[in-house]
Parts: sequence; C-alpha cells; structure tokens
Amino acid sequence: MNFDLDMRTAFVFLVAGHLFTIILITTYRFGQNKDQAVNAFYGAKWMQAAGWGLAMFRGGISDIFTVSVANTALFLGAALEAIALLRAIDAFHRKTLRFYIGLTTFCILAFHIILVVANTEKHRIAMGSFGMSLLLILPAVRMLTKKNGSVLMKVTGGIYCLIAVGAMIRAMISPYVTVTFFEPNLYQALSFLSIFLLMFVGNTGFVLLSKEKSDRELHKLASFDDLTGIWNRRTFILEAKKAIKDCQGKGEAFSFLLMDIDHFKLINDNYGHDTGDMVLQEYASKLKGALRDQDLLGRYGGDEFAVMLPCADEKRSDEIAENIRRSVEQAYGKLPISYTLSIGMVTVAADFMIPLDKIYKLSDKALYKAKQEGRNRAARYLEDPAEPSSGSTKVV
Ligand code: GH3
Ligand code: MG
Repeated sequence: MNFDLDMRTAFVFLVAGHLFTIILITTYRFGQNKDQAVNAFYGAKWMQAAGWGLAMFRGGISDIFTVSVANTALFLGAALEAIALLRAIDAFHRKTLRFYIGLTTFCILAFHIILVVANTEKHRIAMGSFGMSLLLILPAVRMLTKKNGSVLMKVTGGIYCLIAVGAMIRAMISPYVTVTFFEPNLYQALSFLSIFLLMFVGNTGFVLLSKEKSDRELHKLASFDDLTGIWNRRTFILEAKKAIKDCQGKGEAFSFLLMDIDHFKLINDNYGHDTGDMVLQEYASKLKGALRDQDLLGRYGGDEFAVMLPCADEKRSDEIAENIRRSVEQAYGKLPISYTLSIGMVTVAADFMIPLDKIYKLSDKALYKAKQEGRNRAARYLEDPAEPSSGSTKVV
C-alpha cells in the first residue's frame, strides 16, 4: 500500500484550513470585545496561513519568500498559538510574553544562521522542527500539569506534548535522512499528518478551552458577590440547603445566623459610598476569619450577611456568634472606621425538619430583636409558647 502524499496538495489543504479558520474568527470578532486570547490565535492563523502559503510556492518564486519569510511566519505563528493557549488556560503572565519574544527571536535568528552556514534541506527541516518543538512545549506542559485542570485540558496538553516530542524527533533524525521537502515518502507523509493534526487540535482545542474558560467566568459571576468575593444569596441558599439535608441525615443540630451592620447608612453618609464598599469588603474578610472551615457564608444583600453553622448546637453557635461580634467590633483593620453588627440566631435541634426560608424568617425576627435591644449584640429566636411548633419542627 502506498501512503505517500503529494506534498503540494497537502499544503493546499493546510492553507485552506487556516484560511477558513481566519474567516470564521473574523466574523466572530464583529461586535465582540477584543479578547486577547482570540487576538493572539487570530494572529497565529494569519502567520500560519502565510507561512504554509509561501512554502507552497517553493521552486516557483524566490527562496527569500518560500524559505526565509515562510519560516519566520511559521515561528511567529507557533509562538502566537502558544500564547493564545496559555491565555485560554489562565497561565499567561508578563514574563511569559518576554519568554516568547526571546524564544521566537532565537528561533528566527538560528534558522537564518543555518541559511548562511549550512543551507541544506535537512538542516532547515531540523531547525524548523526544533523551533516548533520549543515553542509548543510550554503550553503542552502547562495544560498537562495545571492544578484542577479539566480532562479536556489534560488531553489537549497530551496531544500537544506528542506533537512537540514528534517535532523534536524529526529535528534529530532529519540530518540523517535523505529527503527533499516536496519528495513524497512515508516520512514526509507522517510529518505532514502531524502538522495537520496540530492545526486541527489547535483550532478545536483552543475553541473548547476558551469555552471552558468563559464557563468558569460565568459560573463565578453567577455564584459570587463581586464586591466581597463571598457567595451571593443564590449560591448560599443552594449550598445551605445541601448542608441542612446533610445535618438532618446525620441527625445533627445546626444553626443559622443573620447579620446586619449597625447604622451602616451613616458610614455611607459620613464617609461616602466607596468607603462603605471598602467596609463591606473588610467586614466579609473579618467574618471569614472568625468562622470554621465547614461554616457557610454568603451575602444576602446590602449589609445583610448569612452564616450557616453545620453541627453547631445552641452553645457552639453562641460562642461562634460572640466570636464574630467581637472580631468585628474590636479590629480596625485597614480602615480607620469602627462599626458593630447585630446578629439574629436560630438553632434547629437534631432530628427536626424545617425549610430554609422559614429559618430565614425566624432569624430575621431574632435580628430585629437584637436591633431593638440596642444593637451590637446577638439575639436568639425562641419559640413563642403561644404558638407551639408542629410535630416536625423544633427551634431552640
Ligand atoms: P440598622 O442598624 O438598622 O441596620 O441601620 P442601617 O443604617 O445599617 O440600615 P440598613 O441596614 O437598612 O441599611 C443598609 C444600607 O446599606 C442602605 C444602603 O444604602 C446600603 N448599601 C446597600 N448595599 C450597599 C453596597 O453595596 N455598598 C454600599 N456602600 N452601601 C450599600
Ligand atoms: Mg444595617
């Protein structure tokens, strides 16, 4: 069986693939925010289309274009693709840019030195492959080793690693294999297939990794309060419901605290809304510091925050509430403003069922009581003897 590919036809496919990707990205970019990962990828596709497009004309037009300019474009394309991938997985830093500027310059210079001192096909292929391998290895390794990386990230990283290792092997064996660029044989066919695979994995992998990144960002936006960085009301409720179910399953008591800063409006009025925002941020970090690992914290809205304390009976929740109250009252933190908070508390005894919205209403009553009794204190909701609880509900 003959696996030889006509290399010129193969290059036409490669250029067409890059050009159609360019057309799709161009249409995508209309009316979109100019995302830097997409910009880098777009640049990479132009460089790769130009590089392979020029290489196609080898023998027809001057070697300056088909060798020197074409390979320069391919090195730049590989560097831009690597940068785009690193941006898509949030692994791009300022020093990464400096690293790529240095590495790409090295590849281009080394290639041109070879053009001057040992201008043979095999040496050019060796340097081209060596440069590609160097330029691609960083995103490949970062994808494989990223903490909490997705399966997609690991698989894409694995394929890039294989391509980079393949290019390195090609660089090492090229000086010992007699090939010319357009001469069809199995070695050239395999080389072309790995370049084609690189285009395919690059395009699909980049789009999917970018989607994963925007999914992560959307999830963060939908789950966290953007001012304080803690859970928003929606996420807190979802997580608290799970924790309540868990406590009920284990037959453990749990407690719920609703907290509100005292006279917060005055802070806004006296110091301005921005300072009020900073107080809320500092307040959230003080609350986090006063809680246990298993406790849940969320911002219900405005200056009202909620805490769910799994496995905390009356005594334990009293201690935690007092700890929170004192840590907020005592510490000045970064801002020269002191403030206090009031806390409404509810403890649900072990083995009793009560829905979260009812717990919230009861803790709100307790909070109102704390405010009425003079603020800067915790008050507990105690069942009204005139309104006995139903058989399945018991609040202590
Ligand atoms: P009380 O002791 O009765 O709680 O008095 P208060 O002044 O704190 O009253 P309340 O809790 O009702 O006031 C909440 C204020 O919080 C009203 C609103 O202007 C302010 N606020 C709500 N969200 C924000 C925010 O994101 N940033 C800032 N700076 N202020 C906010
Ligand atoms: Mg308040």
